[in-house]
Amino acid sequence: MSFTLALVGRPNVGKSTLFNRLVGRKLALVDDQPGVTRDLREGPARLGPLRFTVVDTAGLEVATDESLQGRMRRLTERAVEMADVCLFMVDARAGVLPADEIFADILRRKARHVILAANKAEGRAGESGLLEAYALGLGEPLRLSAEHGEGMGELMALLEPLATEFEAQAEESAPETEIDVDEDGEADEDAPWAPTPERPLQVAVVGRPNAGKSTLINKILGEERLLTGPEAGITRDAISLNIEWKDTPFRIFDTAGMRKKARVQEKLEKLSVSDGLRAVKFAEVVVVLLDVEIPFEQQDLRIADLAEREGRAVVVAVNKWDLEDEKQDKLKELKESFERLLPQLKGAPLVTVSARTGRGLDRLHDAILKAHETWNRRASTAQLNRWLAGMLEQHPPPAPGGRRIKMRYATQIKTRPPSFVVMTSHPDEVPDSYKRYLINGLRLDFDMPGTPIRLYLRDQG
Ligand code: GDP
Ligand code: GDP
Repeated sequence: MSFTLALVGRPNVGKSTLFNRLVGRKLALVDDQPGVTRDLREGPARLGPLRFTVVDTAGLEVATDESLQGRMRRLTERAVEMADVCLFMVDARAGVLPADEIFADILRRKARHVILAANKAEGRAGESGLLEAYALGLGEPLRLSAEHGEGMGELMALLEPLATEFEAQAEESAPETEIDVDEDGEADEDAPWAPTPERPLQVAVVGRPNAGKSTLINKILGEERLLTGPEAGITRDAISLNIEWKDTPFRIFDTAGMRKKARVQEKLEKLSVSDGLRAVKFAEVVVVLLDVEIPFEQQDLRIADLAEREGRAVVVAVNKWDLEDEKQDKLKELKESFERLLPQLKGAPLVTVSARTGRGLDRLHDAILKAHETWNRRASTAQLNRWLAGMLEQHPPPAPGGRRIKMRYATQIKTRPPSFVVMTSHPDEVPDSYKRYLINGLRLDFDMPGTPIRLYLRDQG
């Protein structure tokens, strides 16, 4: 029903151009943070009858610095692992370069489905590059011109059978992966998404400078056994650490480490900013760490909003709680500010901690686990359809021009974050207020507080 297509390839092969074509518009950039959206843009794509999510990995490869190569490679691998299909692009005019081989190697090992495309193949200048692309051992290259829109029909023809396959898989697997939630709201032990040492829960700790990120991470580290030490290849940047924290395997992205490094090495400054943002992209749960003395600053709000828009589970942690005398009053005030300033994260956990003393770390741990569980929660199609019928009855959709909008069927297409499709007549005419009504209903009735919820209305034809 819906799948994710990642555009992979070395810089300049035309990934962004194709992304814009598939999404059909230029996605708005987050104003003063050009690094943000360039790193891993994601958008809803349409190609003929197909609807899917496209991820542009442009920006992952900006690194030329030796030490960054490994990281870039890992990030690409993660993107590849997350995608259902990878469109591997090479430049037909430039021919196959060594960097292309590196990507080919990653894709051969990690990707579920690869479509090889030789871009810039309009006219005759691409002939030789097209032939060279065969040598990558990934089958026949698709002849593409992202700029001129050539080869889009062929791309569609290649994606269509895969889309059908994913649809069948989604329907088959939905009841199986359904998570049994016990009376007390605890998920079963054998929840398929539960963190394991091989698949640790990925957390990013983000926040303004001096919020206490380093102190927090060190405190967690100090109290817990370091599992594998800094990952191989990332020691120099200290970008992530694997630890077992209270029996849960975690991988923590340490964005503060990056920034401190950057201070020393001026030219890394720009990279370190986007690294914090990359951490958001790759984290499952984002901990937004606030300083109790200056909570909810612009920068905090922006990163929390970014995390929500990226579909991450968010936990807000207010640090330096040891400095606060009027704890009761302050907590009330913080909760009010949270609701007012970040309505899009309504229901997300807010916990107070002291990284210095270690108080509240248990609460933080539990909040992260809870947010992760909610983010992975799944509702069955039967439940959803009963729910939809109730919602429609309680408050029918509007009837623009006297023609009532019909909604027939709802299903959850994925988790992480919970994403739903509702088959709808005239989906373009459904007002945002009605979408919000449905999203709020999902949140309430399926107990998904504070997690981003995606709702797609699909034309039932
Ligand atoms: P990215 O770095 O992979 O995202 O590449 P971009 O999308 O930024 O494209 C790099 C350059 O190649 C830009 O100047 C594009 O205009 C150009 N380009 C992209 N697609 C095509 C194409 O199909 N044909 C030609 N001739 N140029 C293209
Ligand atoms: P980062 O820039 O976010 O990594 O922040 P740091 O961890 O470097 O902390 C910035 C400053 O805040 C340091 O002087 C810390 O000692 C102090 N700090 C961090 N956590 C706490 C806390 O829980 N309580 C108090 N009182 N100070 C803290």
